[in-house]
Amino acid sequence: MPYRDGTGICPRCGAPLHGPWSESEKRLQCAGCGGRFVGYGSLARSHPRLSQQLGISPAPLPQTPLACPHCNLPMRALSVTRITIDFCAAHGVWFDTHELERLAGKL
Ligand SMILES: [Zn+2]
Ligand SMILES: [Zn+2]
Repeated sequence: MPYRDGTGICPRCGAPLHGPWSESEKRLQCAGCGGRFVGYGSLARSHPRLSQQLGISPAPLPQTPLACPHCNLPMRALSVTRITIDFCAAHGVWFDTHELERLAGKL
């Protein structure tokens, strides 16, 4: 089943997300706030250590969870080196503006 090219709404600011969301590359970006939603396969390729870190900790559901831009279910939150990131177990990880760069620099 083909995915749409632009898919989903930013869970932070409500602007549309754009980017490839295909079998080979899952990487959406918000034009409004700069947040990003990255699929696990794409994250493992670009940031393998961060991707491993996500796999090891059980994560609680926050009080006011963000919605996964792909399936709209509430995302869980995980604190990695004191940066809280939100993720959907099925689809990928949400990074607020610059969070991906900050995390990648610390791991
Ligand atoms: Zn946004
Ligand atoms: Zn999802």
